[in-house]
Amino acid sequence: MTYRADNARYDTMQYRRSGKSGLKLPVVSLGLWQNFGGTRDYPSAMEILGYAFDQGVTHFDLANNYGPPAGSSEELFGQVMARDFRPYRDEMIVSTKAGYNMWPGPYGEWGSRKYLLASLDQSLKRMGLDYVDIFYSHRFDPDTPLEETMGALAHAVKSGKALYVGISSYPEQQTREAHRILKEMGVATTIHQPSYSMINRWIENDKTIDACGELGIGVIAFSPLAQGVLSGKYNRGNTNGARGDNPNSTLRASHIEPRVLEAVDKVGEIAKARGQTMVQLALSWVLRRKEMTSALIGVRTLDQLKDNLGVLNNLDLSDEEVAAIDEATAG
Ligand code: NDP
Repeated sequence: MTYRADNARYDTMQYRRSGKSGLKLPVVSLGLWQNFGGTRDYPSAMEILGYAFDQGVTHFDLANNYGPPAGSSEELFGQVMARDFRPYRDEMIVSTKAGYNMWPGPYGEWGSRKYLLASLDQSLKRMGLDYVDIFYSHRFDPDTPLEETMGALAHAVKSGKALYVGISSYPEQQTREAHRILKEMGVATTIHQPSYSMINRWIENDKTIDACGELGIGVIAFSPLAQGVLSGKYNRGNTNGARGDNPNSTLRASHIEPRVLEAVDKVGEIAKARGQTMVQLALSWVLRRKEMTSALIGVRTLDQLKDNLGVLNNLDLSDEEVAAIDEATAG
């Protein structure tokens, strides 16, 4: 049966402007990093993606290398576009990125113009799209002049293959430089995509988030649940099928060492007192910052998505709660 979007899809979601741009994103966005690759069947992917859109999640985040195997998330999303999402293309923000290893040889990763623009063309083909809404430099390349990397992003905009551009995981100084160079080229740095959660505060420590606020760059936080650790499931030992169960996982032992799990336990008490689940508290915490445009989640199941979207029922945190979370996670 062909998907028909729910007429009530804009009733509950909240949208925030990305920095000083005209682009608004839902406070919860959905990424297709690990759960929408080659082993995901179409009906279950569509169940999750369709439900998300029905709830006003208009932003779907991809990258050339998402899968596994690399490229398969974009291919799956391309099938979803072709079969079910096409009538809603203008209601959606689709992003992709290039930066990590994608094909062999010297032109298959990092930040050269050669790599970025070839990769963008490949991504468009896999997704069956004429343009993406946001194209990112996935990581800062210390060996390529930043003028070249930013020049490739500017070219993507000027050629109509991307409407906006962003940078991902760039530290503070490189963020400022990227913004300056793009500005000289007449292109805005619309968004920064860093990792950020209660237990991963590097953008606060190196002041990247302050730079974004000052420069009018929006921020979308990836791994706001610390890859599932902030659901508390690793404390409860309830990890059937979870990311941490996979020996090739991106979730490493250091992510769930006793010090971290103790902090998560304490945060769990604060969530309970608020009548929220832990993931909901983790998302409202990320979204408490005025610079934050959206929390970019991943989900393996529909129930996880429903749980996470419950954050919309209580986004406000008191100063006392923020201080208690700081204390719980200080170790
Ligand atoms: P999260 O921190 O949201 O972790 C997602 C994982 O947490 C899920 O796959 C699931 O893991 C678990 N989870 C989610 N909801 C629940 C719940 N309610 N209860 C219990 N467990 C839950 O984000 P990701 O690390 O997946 O990253 C999100 C997105 O960010 C990616 O899809 C991608 O778009 C982007 N990203 C960008 C990067 C970059 O370099 N720019 C790098 C990484 C991600 P499980 O399978 O264990 O159940």
